[in-house]
Amino acid sequence: MNDTECIFCKIARGELPAEKVYEDADTVAFLDIKPVNPGHTLIIPKAHYVNIFEAPEETLAKMMHTIKVVSHGIKDGLGIDNMNIGMNNGADSGQVVFHAHIHLMPRHKDDGYGLWHGKPYEPGQAHEVAEKIKKAL
Ligand code: 5GP
Ligand code: ZN
Repeated sequence: MNDTECIFCKIARGELPAEKVYEDADTVAFLDIKPVNPGHTLIIPKAHYVNIFEAPEETLAKMMHTIKVVSHGIKDGLGIDNMNIGMNNGADSGQVVFHAHIHLMPRHKDDGYGLWHGKPYEPGQAHEVAEKIKKAL
């Protein structure tokens, strides 16, 4: 499946420029145009899927292979051994480009970024939430 207007499909097909660092039959890895830190890389499937809810398990497994390969390239090539790996799925989570992608974000001490802080559950709420998830699996 391809989306003719999708910018990441265009990058995958070589119709838009990108600093590609890795490519195989099913995935492409290229530098994010606006990096959290230099080396910030996006891993995409060549096939167009909107996000994790649409992408098949086999595609996600292939992306995970590429993540493993490229994370070592970033670590060894750039001397980075701190990295956040994340995926935004849906506009409310921060997804802006609606072609599934996983961010590999190099991190440095005191780089100015943080992680979000958790909110505690109300009494009994965690069990209720867990039950809802388990029933839907
Ligand atoms: P999202 O918020 O959807 O998870 O992240 C989309 C990412 O794609 C952003 O970090 C943004 O900087 C990156 N991006 C958007 N357009 C382009 C582009 O044309 N080329 C590249 N290399 N990255 C892009
Ligand atoms: Zn696409």
